[in-house]
Amino acid sequence: MPPRHNPLPSPWDYDTANTIEARKYTRTYGLTPPGVDTFEKQLQRCLAQLAARKTPIEKYQYLSVLRNTNVHLFYRLLAGNVKEICPLIYTPTVGEACQRWSELYTQPEGLYLSFEDRGHLHQVIQNWPHDVEITVVTDGSRILGLGDLGINGMGIPVGKLSLYTACAGIHPMKTLPLCLDLGTSNKEFREDPLYLGSRRDKVTAEEEKEFLDEMMAALTERWPSIVIQYEDFKNPFPSLERYQNTYTMFNDDIQGTGAVILGGFINAVKQSGVAPKDQRAVFLGAGSAGVGVAKQLTEFFMKEGLSEEDAKKRFWLVDSQGLVAHDRGKLADHKLYFARDDNDGQQYRSLEEVVEYVKPTILMGLSTIGGAFTPKILQRMAEMNDRPVIFPLSNPSSKSECTFEEAIKYTNGKCLFASGSPFPTLTHDGKDLTPGQGNNVYVFPGIGLGAILSKSVSVTQGMIYASGAALSDSLLPSETAENWLYPDINRIRDVSVVVTKHVIRAAQKDGVDRELQLRGVRDEELEVYVRQRMYDPFTEHEKVEEEVRGLAGLVGR
Ligand code: NAP
Ligand code: MN
Repeated sequence: MPPRHNPLPSPWDYDTANTIEARKYTRTYGLTPPGVDTFEKQLQRCLAQLAARKTPIEKYQYLSVLRNTNVHLFYRLLAGNVKEICPLIYTPTVGEACQRWSELYTQPEGLYLSFEDRGHLHQVIQNWPHDVEITVVTDGSRILGLGDLGINGMGIPVGKLSLYTACAGIHPMKTLPLCLDLGTSNKEFREDPLYLGSRRDKVTAEEEKEFLDEMMAALTERWPSIVIQYEDFKNPFPSLERYQNTYTMFNDDIQGTGAVILGGFINAVKQSGVAPKDQRAVFLGAGSAGVGVAKQLTEFFMKEGLSEEDAKKRFWLVDSQGLVAHDRGKLADHKLYFARDDNDGQQYRSLEEVVEYVKPTILMGLSTIGGAFTPKILQRMAEMNDRPVIFPLSNPSSKSECTFEEAIKYTNGKCLFASGSPFPTLTHDGKDLTPGQGNNVYVFPGIGLGAILSKSVSVTQGMIYASGAALSDSLLPSETAENWLYPDINRIRDVSVVVTKHVIRAAQKDGVDRELQLRGVRDEELEVYVRQRMYDPFTEHEKVEEEVRGLAGLVGR
């Protein structure tokens, strides 16, 4: 039987703001209510419906339907309400949406590739009806902090790509949410009658590697300049190492995180008034996040003139056994780079002891231990520094090493603060203080758009570093005056333009760009170029109207 051809208008054509002429042209006349909406009335209706839904998951469901049935309206709504709506379409709400994905399933929203399809991935990929510029792919094996959720992890690529569109203007039709069904180690799901994935146990690492090899080749064969972003893999390092030089790919959990913390860190170091060579950073946590972040910051110190050896010595990492040092005996491989020689017979055990010994200017938390930055430690940081840098980065808020309120209270308002999870603003000494949040959304949309527009053959470390450095440079003078470390999230589209520009320049510097005409373009022109290529939900309807006018012109002749 030959495949069915479906000639219906696309769902994007059912916008109640479309003019009567546009409706006739797209053959949707009569298929939407007769009234022609203004954007304002549409938004008013949406916000009222959103408010009427009680729980975050109900709001999430309403927004999903809206995105699937009137995509431009969805992004218009998002554009004016980034701060309010992001938590409903991504973290934290997307966590519950993923846990209940099979239970709540109503509509298709992406592509699923199954282990059983291996050998034929190329054919399955042909079924995707649009041309793709960027995909976010997960195997569902470590969704946020929620463990292996199998194909229920699809919520992550869907949500993340909405942010690519909202924040960097990547056209929604050119994004591909991709979820791999490689089995799941989640026994509860495997036994759940409603679970929509295969019921096999998670495939082996070797089987997954072969599957990913085929997938990377098949995606790039159909779309030669596709950008492939990996997300929420349980062990993210092997695929990053294997593909980062051969495909246009990056891993946001590792590289985006490193870059966004770098951005806030550069500003904190500048505002602290202490020269990089005199900075001393104590890290609580030496896991993949702690070591990854520390490495990224080492690069900043090197760009500021320190040798690699000197830059590395600015860091003291503490794990569950105390200071990470050579004289402790065998250390995990990833800890060796920062292992110290100044442990003096293992006398520095607790964070408190390490703080007394090192007298740090910077305290970073990537330990998952809520409250580990005790009042005493925070007070000591304030006694030792004019502007102590305090970054409790563990998520969610319950695992944050301290709250914003505690940091302000015990450093008497002196600290330069950024956290992984959001904290509310507060008043101290009659002044409103806003906490910085090292949210990856400041960088990944610009990394993606920069890679797309430069048509880079890979995503280099230079491009990742540039995204963080650009972020630190994107604050308005008024924001810097308030001692902010990150820009206002409501300006995210402008921030993404800055990030994108620098990512393109870094691609050119590293010689991985294929859009060679952009090399000679001046910076101001590059900015215009980037902005012109960004999807804008407020002007999208004009394209159809232009087509209608063009047609009317032809008829009149
Ligand atoms: P991980 O691999 O489990 O690492 C945790 C580290 O903390 C390990 O080195 C562990 O020591 C150490 N630790 C645990 N208990 C401790 C204790 N009582 N005292 C001192 N050290 C202790 O986790 P990860 O993937 O690196 O992530 C860590 C945290 O970073 C998570 O909460 C995550 O949410 C957060 N994170 C934030 C961002 C962001 O802000 N954008 C991005 C990524 C990750 P051992 O090595 O001895 O076990
Ligand atoms: Mn993630």
